Amino acid sequence: MAVIQARGLAKAYGGKTAVGGLSFDVLPGTVTGFLGPNGAGKSTTMRLMLGLDRGQGTCTFDGKPFTDYHQPMRHVGAVLEAKPFHPTRTARNHLRMLAAPSGVPDHRVDEVLGLVGLGDVAGKAPSTFSLGMGQRLGLAAALLGNPHTLILDEPANGLDPQGIHWLRNLLRSLASEGRSVFVSSHLLSEMALMADHLVVIGRGHMIANGPIEDFTKQSTRNHVFVRTPQARELAALVGQRLAGEGSVQLASADVVTVVGLDAEAIGALAFDNGIRVHELSTRQATLEEAFLEMTGNMQEFQAVAPPPQGSPYGQQPPPPGPPPGSEQPPPPSSYGEQGPQDPNGGAR
Ligand code: ADP
Repeated sequence: MAVIQARGLAKAYGGKTAVGGLSFDVLPGTVTGFLGPNGAGKSTTMRLMLGLDRGQGTCTFDGKPFTDYHQPMRHVGAVLEAKPFHPTRTARNHLRMLAAPSGVPDHRVDEVLGLVGLGDVAGKAPSTFSLGMGQRLGLAAALLGNPHTLILDEPANGLDPQGIHWLRNLLRSLASEGRSVFVSSHLLSEMALMADHLVVIGRGHMIANGPIEDFTKQSTRNHVFVRTPQARELAALVGQRLAGEGSVQLASADVVTVVGLDAEAIGALAFDNGIRVHELSTRQATLEEAFLEMTGNMQEFQAVAPPPQGSPYGQQPPPPGPPPGSEQPPPPSSYGEQGPQDPNGGAR
Protein backbone atom coordinates (compact mmCIF):
# COMPACT_ATOMS: atom_id res chain seq x y z
CA MET A 1 0.00 0.00 0.00
CA ALA A 2 1.21 3.45 -0.83
CA VAL A 3 1.99 5.47 2.26
CA ILE A 4 1.07 8.89 0.91
CA GLN A 5 -1.89 9.25 -1.42
CA ALA A 6 -2.71 12.78 -2.56
CA ARG A 7 -5.91 13.16 -4.56
CA GLY A 8 -7.21 16.28 -6.25
CA LEU A 9 -5.33 18.76 -4.07
CA ALA A 10 -6.36 22.26 -5.11
CA LYS A 11 -6.17 25.79 -3.78
CA ALA A 12 -6.75 29.26 -5.16
CA TYR A 13 -5.72 32.61 -3.70
CA GLY A 14 -8.09 35.44 -4.59
CA GLY A 15 -9.37 33.61 -7.66
CA LYS A 16 -5.87 32.70 -8.87
CA THR A 17 -5.08 28.99 -8.98
CA ALA A 18 -2.07 28.11 -6.85
CA VAL A 19 -2.60 24.33 -6.99
CA GLY A 20 -4.94 23.01 -9.65
CA GLY A 21 -5.91 19.47 -8.69
CA LEU A 22 -2.82 17.39 -8.01
CA SER A 23 -2.93 13.63 -7.51
CA PHE A 24 0.10 11.47 -6.82
CA ASP A 25 1.45 8.71 -4.59
CA VAL A 26 4.65 8.64 -2.56
CA LEU A 27 5.83 5.08 -2.07
CA PRO A 28 7.63 3.57 0.92
CA GLY A 29 11.35 2.99 0.46
CA THR A 30 11.73 5.87 -1.99
CA VAL A 31 12.87 9.45 -2.02
CA THR A 32 10.33 11.31 -4.15
CA GLY A 33 11.55 14.66 -5.41
CA PHE A 34 9.02 17.44 -5.78
CA LEU A 35 10.11 19.85 -8.50
CA GLY A 36 8.68 22.94 -10.08
CA PRO A 37 9.71 26.50 -10.91
CA ASN A 38 9.30 29.19 -8.24
CA GLY A 39 5.64 29.85 -7.59
CA ALA A 40 4.61 26.48 -9.08
CA GLY A 41 2.70 25.58 -5.93
CA LYS A 42 5.08 23.22 -4.12
CA SER A 43 4.84 24.79 -0.65
CA THR A 44 1.09 25.21 -0.97
CA THR A 45 0.77 21.53 -1.94
CA MET A 46 2.79 20.46 1.07
CA ARG A 47 0.66 22.57 3.39
CA LEU A 48 -2.50 21.09 1.84
CA MET A 49 -1.11 17.59 2.35
CA LEU A 50 -0.74 18.27 6.06
CA GLY A 51 -4.07 20.05 6.43
CA LEU A 52 -2.34 23.34 7.26
CA ASP A 53 -4.13 25.19 4.45
CA ARG A 54 -7.76 25.08 3.49
CA GLY A 55 -8.37 23.78 0.01
CA GLN A 56 -9.86 20.92 -1.96
CA GLY A 57 -8.83 17.30 -2.21
CA THR A 58 -7.51 14.75 0.23
CA CYS A 59 -4.18 13.44 1.36
CA THR A 60 -3.82 10.30 3.42
CA PHE A 61 -0.85 8.77 5.20
CA ASP A 62 -1.35 5.03 5.44
CA GLY A 63 -5.02 5.64 4.79
CA LYS A 64 -5.59 8.43 7.31
CA PRO A 65 -5.36 12.23 7.01
CA PHE A 66 -2.50 13.76 9.01
CA THR A 67 -4.90 15.57 11.31
CA ASP A 68 -6.63 12.29 12.28
CA TYR A 69 -3.50 10.94 13.94
CA HIS A 70 -3.50 11.14 17.71
CA GLN A 71 0.28 11.57 17.81
CA PRO A 72 1.07 12.73 14.25
CA MET A 73 4.77 13.21 15.00
CA ARG A 74 5.12 9.44 15.30
CA HIS A 75 3.81 8.97 11.76
CA VAL A 76 4.76 12.01 9.70
CA GLY A 77 7.71 14.36 10.19
CA ALA A 78 7.58 17.65 8.33
CA VAL A 79 9.85 20.64 7.80
CA LEU A 80 8.09 23.41 5.96
CA GLU A 81 10.04 26.42 7.22
CA ALA A 82 13.70 26.73 8.05
CA LYS A 83 13.56 28.68 11.30
CA PRO A 84 10.27 28.48 13.16
CA PHE A 85 11.95 28.63 16.56
CA HIS A 86 11.55 30.47 19.81
CA PRO A 87 14.40 33.02 19.85
CA THR A 88 15.90 32.22 23.27
CA ARG A 89 14.92 28.64 24.11
CA THR A 90 17.87 26.29 23.57
CA ALA A 91 17.85 23.81 20.71
CA ARG A 92 17.55 20.92 23.19
CA ASN A 93 14.64 22.53 25.06
CA HIS A 94 12.94 23.39 21.80
CA LEU A 95 12.96 19.70 20.88
CA ARG A 96 11.97 18.57 24.38
CA MET A 97 8.96 20.85 24.21
CA LEU A 98 7.94 19.30 20.87
CA ALA A 99 8.64 15.78 22.09
CA ALA A 100 6.65 15.85 25.33
CA PRO A 101 3.07 15.86 23.96
CA SER A 102 3.84 12.79 21.84
CA GLY A 103 5.46 10.92 24.71
CA VAL A 104 8.86 10.97 22.96
CA PRO A 105 11.52 10.45 25.68
CA ASP A 106 14.31 12.99 26.35
CA HIS A 107 17.06 10.61 25.24
CA ARG A 108 15.55 10.68 21.75
CA VAL A 109 16.10 14.47 21.73
CA ASP A 110 19.85 14.01 22.18
CA GLU A 111 19.82 11.17 19.69
CA VAL A 112 18.30 13.30 16.90
CA LEU A 113 20.53 16.28 17.77
CA GLY A 114 23.50 13.96 17.23
CA LEU A 115 21.99 12.56 14.06
CA VAL A 116 21.73 16.00 12.46
CA GLY A 117 25.16 17.12 13.70
CA LEU A 118 23.97 19.63 16.32
CA GLY A 119 25.10 17.72 19.43
CA ASP A 120 27.75 20.36 20.24
CA VAL A 121 25.32 23.28 20.11
CA ALA A 122 22.37 21.62 21.87
CA GLY A 123 22.58 24.20 24.68
CA LYS A 124 22.61 27.21 22.36
CA ALA A 125 19.62 29.26 21.27
CA PRO A 126 18.56 28.70 17.64
CA SER A 127 18.48 32.48 17.14
CA THR A 128 22.28 32.26 16.91
CA PHE A 129 22.07 29.53 14.26
CA SER A 130 22.81 29.92 10.58
CA LEU A 131 20.10 29.05 8.07
CA GLY A 132 21.79 25.68 7.53
CA MET A 133 21.82 24.94 11.28
CA GLY A 134 18.18 25.95 11.41
CA GLN A 135 17.46 23.42 8.65
CA ARG A 136 19.24 20.74 10.67
CA LEU A 137 17.22 21.59 13.77
CA GLY A 138 14.01 21.44 11.75
CA LEU A 139 15.02 18.03 10.49
CA ALA A 140 15.80 16.92 14.05
CA ALA A 141 12.28 17.95 15.04
CA ALA A 142 10.82 16.02 12.11
CA LEU A 143 12.76 12.89 13.10
CA LEU A 144 11.85 13.02 16.81
CA GLY A 145 8.95 10.58 16.60
CA ASN A 146 10.85 8.22 14.26
CA PRO A 147 8.10 8.67 11.62
CA HIS A 148 7.64 6.46 8.58
CA THR A 149 7.04 9.50 6.37
CA LEU A 150 8.97 12.73 5.91
CA ILE A 151 7.77 15.85 4.10
CA LEU A 152 10.53 18.37 3.61
CA ASP A 153 10.24 21.71 1.82
CA GLU A 154 13.63 22.79 0.42
CA PRO A 155 15.66 21.19 3.24
CA ALA A 156 18.95 21.85 1.42
CA ASN A 157 18.41 25.64 1.52
CA GLY A 158 21.27 27.27 3.38
CA LEU A 159 23.35 24.12 3.65
CA ASP A 160 26.96 24.21 2.46
CA PRO A 161 28.17 21.56 -0.02
CA GLN A 162 29.16 19.20 2.79
CA GLY A 163 25.80 19.74 4.45
CA ILE A 164 24.02 18.96 1.18
CA HIS A 165 26.08 15.79 0.79
CA TRP A 166 25.21 14.80 4.35
CA LEU A 167 21.50 15.51 3.79
CA ARG A 168 21.46 13.39 0.64
CA ASN A 169 23.00 10.43 2.45
CA LEU A 170 20.67 10.85 5.42
CA LEU A 171 17.51 10.95 3.28
CA ARG A 172 18.66 8.02 1.17
CA SER A 173 19.39 5.96 4.25
CA LEU A 174 16.02 6.87 5.83
CA ALA A 175 14.30 5.76 2.62
CA SER A 176 16.33 2.55 2.47
CA GLU A 177 14.87 1.68 5.89
CA GLY A 178 11.44 1.69 4.24
CA ARG A 179 10.34 5.25 4.91
CA SER A 180 8.58 7.47 2.39
CA VAL A 181 10.48 10.71 1.83
CA PHE A 182 8.84 13.56 -0.09
CA VAL A 183 11.25 16.42 -0.62
CA SER A 184 11.12 19.61 -2.64
CA SER A 185 14.26 21.25 -3.90
CA HIS A 186 15.37 23.65 -6.58
CA LEU A 187 18.85 22.06 -6.57
CA LEU A 188 18.37 19.84 -9.58
CA SER A 189 21.82 18.26 -9.57
CA GLU A 190 21.27 17.24 -5.95
CA MET A 191 17.82 15.94 -6.74
CA ALA A 192 19.30 13.85 -9.56
CA LEU A 193 21.52 12.11 -7.00
CA MET A 194 18.94 11.88 -4.24
CA ALA A 195 15.55 11.01 -5.73
CA ASP A 196 14.21 7.75 -7.15
CA HIS A 197 10.94 9.20 -8.26
CA LEU A 198 9.83 12.67 -9.35
CA VAL A 199 6.65 14.68 -9.16
CA VAL A 200 7.06 17.75 -11.36
CA ILE A 201 4.53 20.57 -11.39
CA GLY A 202 4.16 23.87 -13.22
CA ARG A 203 1.62 26.57 -12.37
CA GLY A 204 -0.10 24.21 -9.98
CA HIS A 205 -0.59 21.40 -12.51
CA MET A 206 1.10 18.05 -12.97
CA ILE A 207 3.79 17.94 -15.64
CA ALA A 208 5.32 14.55 -14.89
CA ASN A 209 5.10 11.83 -12.29
CA GLY A 210 7.36 8.80 -12.52
CA PRO A 211 10.80 7.28 -11.99
CA ILE A 212 13.64 9.75 -12.43
CA GLU A 213 15.24 7.75 -15.28
CA ASP A 214 12.04 7.99 -17.32
CA PHE A 215 12.01 11.73 -16.82
CA THR A 216 15.44 12.23 -18.37
CA LYS A 217 14.98 9.43 -20.91
CA GLN A 218 12.19 11.22 -22.73
CA SER A 219 14.08 14.49 -23.07
CA THR A 220 14.84 15.57 -26.63
CA ARG A 221 18.24 16.58 -25.24
CA ASN A 222 19.28 12.93 -25.33
CA HIS A 223 21.23 12.57 -28.53
CA VAL A 224 24.09 10.88 -30.27
CA PHE A 225 27.12 13.07 -30.91
CA VAL A 226 29.27 12.30 -33.94
CA ARG A 227 32.50 14.05 -34.93
CA THR A 228 33.51 13.30 -38.48
CA PRO A 229 35.32 15.12 -41.30
CA GLN A 230 32.41 13.99 -43.54
CA ALA A 231 29.70 15.56 -41.41
CA ARG A 232 27.53 16.81 -44.26
CA GLU A 233 27.57 13.40 -45.96
CA LEU A 234 26.72 11.56 -42.75
CA ALA A 235 23.95 14.03 -41.87
CA ALA A 236 22.32 13.39 -45.25
CA LEU A 237 22.51 9.60 -44.81
CA VAL A 238 21.12 9.76 -41.28
CA GLY A 239 18.34 12.05 -42.49
CA GLN A 240 17.34 9.47 -45.12
CA ARG A 241 17.40 6.67 -42.54
CA LEU A 242 15.32 8.64 -40.04
CA ALA A 243 12.69 9.41 -42.68
CA GLY A 244 11.13 12.07 -40.50
CA GLU A 245 11.27 10.05 -37.24
CA GLY A 246 13.70 12.00 -35.06
CA SER A 247 16.10 14.72 -36.11
CA VAL A 248 19.61 15.26 -37.36
CA GLN A 249 21.57 18.49 -37.12
CA LEU A 250 24.81 19.61 -38.63
CA ALA A 251 25.94 21.26 -35.42
CA SER A 252 29.25 22.50 -36.86
CA ALA A 253 31.52 21.71 -39.81
CA ASP A 254 32.55 18.38 -38.29
CA VAL A 255 29.79 17.59 -35.78
CA VAL A 256 26.47 15.87 -36.36
CA THR A 257 23.93 15.42 -33.58
CA VAL A 258 21.16 12.86 -33.92
CA VAL A 259 17.94 12.18 -32.06
CA GLY A 260 16.05 9.00 -32.90
CA LEU A 261 18.88 6.66 -33.95
CA ASP A 262 21.29 4.98 -31.54
CA ALA A 263 25.08 5.05 -31.67
CA GLU A 264 25.32 1.46 -33.00
CA ALA A 265 23.03 2.22 -35.94
CA ILE A 266 24.89 5.45 -36.77
CA GLY A 267 28.28 3.70 -36.48
CA ALA A 268 27.09 0.95 -38.83
CA LEU A 269 25.71 3.49 -41.31
CA ALA A 270 29.01 5.37 -41.32
CA PHE A 271 31.02 2.16 -41.71
CA ASP A 272 28.84 0.85 -44.55
CA ASN A 273 29.27 4.12 -46.43
CA GLY A 274 33.00 4.50 -45.86
CA ILE A 275 32.62 7.53 -43.58
CA ARG A 276 35.52 8.15 -41.21
CA VAL A 277 34.36 8.79 -37.62
CA HIS A 278 36.53 10.47 -34.97
CA GLU A 279 34.06 10.40 -32.11
CA LEU A 280 30.73 8.68 -31.54
CA SER A 281 29.00 8.98 -28.19
CA THR A 282 25.59 8.89 -26.59
CA ARG A 283 24.83 12.03 -24.56
CA GLN A 284 22.24 11.74 -21.82
CA ALA A 285 20.15 14.74 -20.86
CA THR A 286 20.79 15.96 -17.34
CA LEU A 287 17.90 16.36 -14.96
CA GLU A 288 18.35 20.10 -15.32
CA GLU A 289 18.04 19.96 -19.12
CA ALA A 290 14.96 17.74 -18.92
CA PHE A 291 13.43 19.99 -16.26
CA LEU A 292 14.02 23.20 -18.20
CA GLU A 293 12.62 21.63 -21.34
CA MET A 294 9.44 20.54 -19.56
CA THR A 295 8.88 23.62 -17.46
CA GLY A 296 10.18 26.28 -19.87
CA ASN A 297 6.81 27.98 -20.25
CA MET A 298 5.62 27.20 -16.75
CA GLN A 299 7.60 29.83 -14.89
CA GLU A 300 5.58 32.43 -13.11
CA PHE A 301 8.40 34.97 -13.34
CA GLN A 302 10.36 34.98 -16.58
CA ALA A 303 13.44 37.03 -17.24
CA VAL A 304 13.80 38.61 -20.65
CA ALA A 305 16.59 36.87 -22.54
CA PRO A 306 19.62 39.11 -23.26
CA PRO A 307 20.36 39.65 -26.96
CA PRO A 308 22.56 36.92 -28.43
CA GLN A 309 26.21 37.87 -28.35
CA GLY A 310 27.99 34.84 -29.73
CA SER A 311 29.19 32.04 -27.57
CA PRO A 312 32.40 32.72 -25.66
CA TYR A 313 33.16 29.03 -25.94
CA GLY A 314 33.75 28.95 -29.69
CA GLN A 315 32.69 25.65 -31.21
CA GLN A 316 29.80 24.77 -28.94
CA PRO A 317 27.31 22.79 -30.98
CA PRO A 318 23.74 23.89 -30.45
CA PRO A 319 21.81 21.29 -28.54
CA PRO A 320 19.42 19.21 -30.54
CA GLY A 321 15.74 19.82 -30.15
CA PRO A 322 13.95 23.15 -30.10
CA PRO A 323 16.18 26.22 -30.23
CA PRO A 324 16.84 27.88 -26.88
CA GLY A 325 14.18 30.37 -25.95
CA SER A 326 11.46 28.85 -28.09
CA GLU A 327 8.51 28.62 -25.78
CA GLN A 328 6.66 25.43 -26.44
CA PRO A 329 4.10 23.66 -24.33
CA PRO A 330 5.69 20.87 -22.30
CA PRO A 331 5.83 17.68 -24.35
CA PRO A 332 3.32 15.09 -23.27
CA SER A 333 4.93 12.76 -20.82
CA SER A 334 4.75 9.14 -21.85
CA TYR A 335 4.98 7.87 -18.31
CA GLY A 336 2.22 8.84 -16.04
CA GLU A 337 1.41 12.35 -17.09
CA GLN A 338 -2.05 13.14 -15.99
CA GLY A 339 -4.63 15.80 -16.17
CA PRO A 340 -5.76 17.40 -12.96
CA GLN A 341 -8.87 15.24 -12.89
CA ASP A 342 -7.11 11.89 -13.18
CA PRO A 343 -8.50 9.96 -10.21
CA ASN A 344 -5.59 7.55 -10.19
CA GLY A 345 -3.04 10.26 -10.13
CA GLY A 346 -0.89 8.52 -12.71
CA ALA A 347 0.05 6.07 -10.01
CA ARG A 348 1.77 2.94 -11.11
P1 ADP B 1 6.42 27.31 -4.68
O1 ADP B 1 6.54 26.72 -3.32
O2 ADP B 1 6.42 26.30 -5.78
O3 ADP B 1 7.43 28.40 -4.94
P2 ADP B 1 3.97 28.45 -3.63
O4 ADP B 1 3.16 27.30 -3.20
O5 ADP B 1 4.70 29.22 -2.57
O6 ADP B 1 4.98 28.01 -4.79
O7 ADP B 1 3.04 29.50 -4.40
C1 ADP B 1 2.15 29.09 -5.42
C2 ADP B 1 1.35 30.32 -5.89
O8 ADP B 1 0.50 30.74 -4.86
C3 ADP B 1 2.22 31.50 -6.26
O9 ADP B 1 1.60 32.16 -7.33
C4 ADP B 1 2.17 32.35 -5.01
O10 ADP B 1 2.35 33.70 -5.33
C5 ADP B 1 0.76 32.08 -4.51
N1 ADP B 1 0.67 32.20 -3.03
C6 ADP B 1 1.31 31.39 -2.14
N2 ADP B 1 0.98 31.76 -0.87
C7 ADP B 1 0.10 32.79 -0.98
C8 ADP B 1 -0.62 33.60 -0.04
N3 ADP B 1 -0.51 33.39 1.27
N4 ADP B 1 -1.42 34.56 -0.53
C9 ADP B 1 -1.56 34.76 -1.87
N5 ADP B 1 -0.92 34.04 -2.80
C10 ADP B 1 -0.10 33.07 -2.38
